[in-house]
Amino acid sequence: MTLQDSQIPAGSLPDLVTRGQLFINGDWRPASGASNSSIVNPATGQETATVSAATTADIDAAVAAAKTAFEDGRWSGLSGRERSRILHRASQIMRERSEELALAESTDVGKPITFARAVDVATAIDQYEYVAALAQQLDGSVRETPLAAHAFTKREPLGVIAAITPFNFPLILSSTKIAPALAAGNTVVHKPAGDTPLSALLMAKILTEAGVPAGVFNVVTGSGSALGDHLVAHPDVNKVAFTGSTEIGRRVAALAGENLRPVTAELGGNAANILFADADLEKAIGTIISAFVFNSGQFCMGGPRLLVERPIYETVLGILKDAVAGVPVGDPLDPATVMGPMSSQKQLDKVARYVDGARAAGGQIIVGGQKLDLNGGFFYKPTVIAGLGNDAEAVTDEIFGPVLTVQPFDTEEEAIGLANSTKYGLAAGVQTSSISRAHRVSSKLQAGIVWVNAWALLDPAVPFGGVKNSGWGREYGPEALDSYTRTKSVVIATD
Ligand code: NAP
Repeated sequence: MTLQDSQIPAGSLPDLVTRGQLFINGDWRPASGASNSSIVNPATGQETATVSAATTADIDAAVAAAKTAFEDGRWSGLSGRERSRILHRASQIMRERSEELALAESTDVGKPITFARAVDVATAIDQYEYVAALAQQLDGSVRETPLAAHAFTKREPLGVIAAITPFNFPLILSSTKIAPALAAGNTVVHKPAGDTPLSALLMAKILTEAGVPAGVFNVVTGSGSALGDHLVAHPDVNKVAFTGSTEIGRRVAALAGENLRPVTAELGGNAANILFADADLEKAIGTIISAFVFNSGQFCMGGPRLLVERPIYETVLGILKDAVAGVPVGDPLDPATVMGPMSSQKQLDKVARYVDGARAAGGQIIVGGQKLDLNGGFFYKPTVIAGLGNDAEAVTDEIFGPVLTVQPFDTEEEAIGLANSTKYGLAAGVQTSSISRAHRVSSKLQAGIVWVNAWALLDPAVPFGGVKNSGWGREYGPEALDSYTRTKSVVIATD
């Protein structure tokens, strides 16, 4: 790994990625094709690291290592309590190395360091702790039956898990898969996003230090378009745990389906946030803004579509105009920064294209609407757009940037209809002071999770996942372990 970015304090990214190599069967090794890819700091546009670009031969080696490690029982053969201890130790090491993890996330994705610490790293630690407890409770049950038999169920691990994650929350989303997969006794081949692999490599070191045996956790870095099909269709992969775009998720699910391999598919979102006139407006405005600027809007469960009850529509636009202009945008390593850059030039260009399209379609830019020239980074100003029809692309598509569209509504039914008019269904929000409305509306929203008088209240104990084109499967909660185990029934004749 080479550090060229003067913004990164010297010595603060110590042995972060062990020369950017692949981690296979407990060893660090270069890619078999000897090629590398550049990792760019989005806050400066400068290269900060190079990591190995794996080949399909490296995928084969990683899957073979994971298969052997699963079959010889070095991990699946441990008791749940012993796996729990090791995962718990991993969470403790993560806590000790939390500054390194936070720095990796901040320089890789462009996240404000404040949020990288308080959200990304803290959540990942929580996940390991929560799941470590669940590892001790993978019980089956005795079944009452009229058969002359003693019948019971057991929960068994699946085998080799291919864990594929996107660029926006590398540490959280890899932990979301790796922690429950390991807790249940599986082995893992992890392919993080090509642009943001650093924390996955750091986690390989941490899990090894915690006592996870060689071959149980493997990391292959490189391009999804070059490696993805090979990994997903690999005959020795027993399940694919995918988080990413709906487009790639559909391809992954189809390919895994051909091999009859289970898939969890956590895909895109385009959530509506419904603001009723009876809401606590001061609180709601803060919620609305954080829901679309958090992580520069690169948040699958963000709230990019604001629906406002007509009597307060103009007032809300006026408040947003001033408040959004005051969101501190800048250097992610400055503790005062609330919003950093987009994570890549590609994401920046995508956001600019959508906003330009919205302008051309007659949208009124209330605030923002342009790039921000800062240190050569990929910055875009937080943007609020009003006056668009419900079929405008900026409303229907997942922009994945700091862009909020605002639409008025007159009735509760109309609001629910507008909220559900998207092809996605990951999250939704309701801002109201009426408890009966909160129940009524949340029950009618087509989404895997609904927040009332809040946004993005997430916790490892509370499951999330999509409906419609946002995918299927649930992560977090005890439900997460269900998807990494299968039930075996044993029926022993008693006569
Ligand atoms: P993406 O382009 O779909 O990539 C996701 C992962 O898939 C990356 O590791 C990517 O590798 C890999 N990949 C690419 N082509 C592949 C193929 N043919 N087979 C297998 N894997 C392949 O998504 P992204 O742009 O990184 O992330 C943004 C998307 O993720 C958004 O749509 C967002 O809503 C969604 N997301 C969903 C959730 C959720 O929980 N539902 C959470 C976060 C993000 P490369 O990076 O090397 O291309």
